[in-house]
Amino acid sequence: MLGLYVHVPFCSAICNYCNFNRGLFDADLKTRYVDAVVGEIRQAGAATDGVVAAADTIYFGGGTPSLLEPGEIARIVEACESAFDVSQDREVTMEANPESVTEARLAAFRRAGVNRLSFGVQSFRDEELLRLSRLHSVDRARAAVGEARAAGFDNLSLDLMMWLPGQNVSEWLESVDAAIALAPEHLSLYMLEVYPNAPLKEEMARARWSQAPDDDAAVMYIEAMERLEAAELMQYEISNVARAGRRSRHNLKYWTDGEWLGFGPGAHSTRSGVRWKNTSSTEEYVDQITRGASIAVDVRRLTPDQRLGDALFTALRLVDGIDGNAIQTRYGVDVWRRYGADLEPFVEVGCLRRDGARLSLTRQGMLLAHEVMTVFV
Ligand code: SF4
Repeated sequence: MLGLYVHVPFCSAICNYCNFNRGLFDADLKTRYVDAVVGEIRQAGAATDGVVAAADTIYFGGGTPSLLEPGEIARIVEACESAFDVSQDREVTMEANPESVTEARLAAFRRAGVNRLSFGVQSFRDEELLRLSRLHSVDRARAAVGEARAAGFDNLSLDLMMWLPGQNVSEWLESVDAAIALAPEHLSLYMLEVYPNAPLKEEMARARWSQAPDDDAAVMYIEAMERLEAAELMQYEISNVARAGRRSRHNLKYWTDGEWLGFGPGAHSTRSGVRWKNTSSTEEYVDQITRGASIAVDVRRLTPDQRLGDALFTALRLVDGIDGNAIQTRYGVDVWRRYGADLEPFVEVGCLRRDGARLSLTRQGMLLAHEVMTVFV
């Protein structure tokens, strides 16, 4: 089944490290954007030659999707329902920033069809949130989780960022413990990447903040995973942990060779071996949709080898790893016969585990995932 991704490119302020496709909130542009995205979804459904494609996940990502009004989220969900055969047991996720919600708003988002929330918390230390120029405080993040529970959400994910400027191992683990104490169903842990042109880079130089040494970053990662698993938040992907039955069904499509359609500016799609991206500028996106012009840029038909490489590359992100039998059935390729010589050194140093036809990264190996993955691409 398809996953449907909706990109909401608006934020209340631009964080100093952000590299996503987003811009400052503009009420007029937002209204035109919602009309355009509804139009894009309807058109995509109509383009399937009379056969209504089935979908079972909708994911509102951003930007800050919680800046849309609940009625606007409801319109977009309805557009998905009218254009696709969206299953009853759907997962509908909305990313939300803690400062942009109240219990009443969250209850309204729930009535609009959202049944899973992903809060961008990033840190449970106010000092770190300030360094990241985030708008919320730790108290607001905790309150938002309480409001989500009161509004009836039983599927919550929190995002945390590790390896922050000036952060040491024990400060990072404070955030991990604070997240565990809130008992979310799911957590995503990302390592901060400081891009060359990010304002944060300059601020770090000015304030003499540096990131902890690489060895400490490795300890941050391994120790966090151990604490989370002790709290029954089991790792299932390099950056993600979940309670039983609460893995992100939408994101799993990206890692299990699935298909998805992305709507909104800059959204990516992959379907029937074709990959494309929407134009990134929100103004241009709205204008082109309104004029009935194509918004797809960078359309690529993947060769069978590229599809295989991508399937292997993404599967390796999962704790379950690559299922060699499934690859054999789908692509007619024996993974070990084709790649074994290049993979063997990683098995020898304990980065990669080979168990029958299954290949998976060890936790140590996850720290060097990119090096192993280059074998496939
Ligand atoms: S809220 Fe998220 S998307 Fe928006 S500027 Fe901050 S990091 Fe970027």
